[in-house]
Amino acid sequence: ILPEPAVIEPGKDGGPPSDAIVLFDGKDLSKWKNGENWEIKDGYAIARKSGITTKDSYGDCQFHIEFATPEKIEGTGQGRGNSGVYLMGKYEVQILDSYDNKTYFDGQCGSLYKQTTPMVNACRKPGEWQSFDILFESPRFNDDGSVKRPGYVTVLHNGVCVQNHFELLGGTFFHQPAKYEKHPDKLPLNIQFHNNPLRFRNIWIRDIKPLEGKKPEAPKN
Ligand code: MG
Repeated sequence: ILPEPAVIEPGKDGGPPSDAIVLFDGKDLSKWKNGENWEIKDGYAIARKSGITTKDSYGDCQFHIEFATPEKIEGTGQGRGNSGVYLMGKYEVQILDSYDNKTYFDGQCGSLYKQTTPMVNACRKPGEWQSFDILFESPRFNDDGSVKRPGYVTVLHNGVCVQNHFELLGGTFFHQPAKYEKHPDKLPLNIQFHNNPLRFRNIWIRDIKPLEGKKPEAPKN
């Protein structure tokens, strides 16, 4: 018998739902290491000085974040509005100002950095609020360190599917090819600081469990 689904309040558009862990509600970054490095103003946080990392660890999850790349355009390519969501601190969903800004395709906004491009470029203009809704299934490892099951990432950028259950090739690196390294089932999540003052708001996460299935019963003769 399958369990009855829990009843939750879905919240307003963009959430957070009642069973989410709110990581930033516009007031403080106390759930983050190095949160003091970012400036909080008018209900949003501005990236400064360093990345921020959750104090708690997460594995399979649903993650929501809203961001705005700087309205004043500075830099080009990877130097313009660069940040990123590092799931488990290892797998980067790239944040970039890819509005009329050329860069390598697997480094643009919504890419799994250096692994795959987004299906479409769904970027809004610099300075406008955008969102990522990410579904993540952590990789699983065998005792000997080999991959038992790869990780998977689905990304909606501004509500548009740009990654659909993408099979991660390993950790995302700037300087070397993707590679898996055995790690625990839960790890902190990190938001990158890449010298650009992006704004962030409404950040929340929900643990998700694999769904159980049930085959229809065979007809009785
Ligand atoms: Mg980045």
